[in-house]
Amino acid sequence: MSAVDIKPVQASAAFGKEKLLEVKNLVKHFPIKGGLLRRTVDKVHAVDGVSFDLKAGETLGLVGESGCGKSTTGRCILRLIEPTSGEVRFAGRSVTGAGRDEMRALAREMQIIFQDPFASLNPRMTVGAIVGEGLVIHKLAANAREIEERVAQLLETVGLSADQMRRYPHEFSGGQRQRIGIARALAVNPKLVVCDEAVSALDVSIQAQVINLLEDLQEQFDLTYIFIAHDLSVVEHTSDRVAVMYLGRIVEIAAANELYTKPLHPYTEALLSAVPIPDPRVQRSRVRLQGDVPSPIHPPPGCHFHTRCPIAQKGLCDRETPQLKQSSDGHLVACHLRG
Ligand code: SF4
Repeated sequence: MSAVDIKPVQASAAFGKEKLLEVKNLVKHFPIKGGLLRRTVDKVHAVDGVSFDLKAGETLGLVGESGCGKSTTGRCILRLIEPTSGEVRFAGRSVTGAGRDEMRALAREMQIIFQDPFASLNPRMTVGAIVGEGLVIHKLAANAREIEERVAQLLETVGLSADQMRRYPHEFSGGQRQRIGIARALAVNPKLVVCDEAVSALDVSIQAQVINLLEDLQEQFDLTYIFIAHDLSVVEHTSDRVAVMYLGRIVEIAAANELYTKPLHPYTEALLSAVPIPDPRVQRSRVRLQGDVPSPIHPPPGCHFHTRCPIAQKGLCDRETPQLKQSSDGHLVACHLRG
């Protein structure tokens, strides 16, 4: 991403604003069934006690290697996946405790943009029907004409043309399809949008265009984003704060600038050391981690990262779970030896 022109993130519009989202001790364990009776024989610890807050207008980057639980966290917040335990509150209302009708209203305010724009768009529906579906479900337009007018407006807002509404997803490029996904999310006037690896499947130059579009829309519609990505360089340019996840837990969370210049957790250091720096005069030594990410079925005891950590202390890190603690203002780290 470094070679392309992404607009630098503006001074946070979230400064001084109220909390829009509160996530408390969110847990998602997927049962593993086995045997003749299909009993639960084990479980995947996909999300293991995630907590964070988000202010209105803020962008939080959620990063980590694939399988760390970041997408599951995003989906549990929207209850596209039912969390095992924990609490999610949105604008003061309980999401985790919401009944069916309440959840339908909340779903309008919390939307998601998926990684694979092709897989997430119904190939048998026209673009107009895809973008207009939310307007119909949530009864946000009085008649077919109003839906068509709104869809035309939305397509133009995301850089497509109104006359493309009668075409099908396969007639568009990957970047255009992602713009359709964005228009679909915007149709219902959401406050929070979870961008789940929203640019990962796109070419680098197209990624920059889509990121710039998302930033323009944030300003225009006062949106709050959770920007999920495995690529730290994408998140650096888009986020006010960044949370780093490892095996279902947040291990560090800080303002983006702070995290990129003064990382505290050894895992964040390793991830950052792998990000290419465009300026050849700046050197960063590469931290190579030992082994692979352990299985989330039996995550290591104590600090989940101790099996790969270059500074792990025997008898401490393999026994005691480090809690997220404040190191400096707004910079939290979960490590026995740092912070
Ligand atoms: Fe490494 Fe121990 Fe810190 Fe975990 S708690 S990151 S194992 S030093």
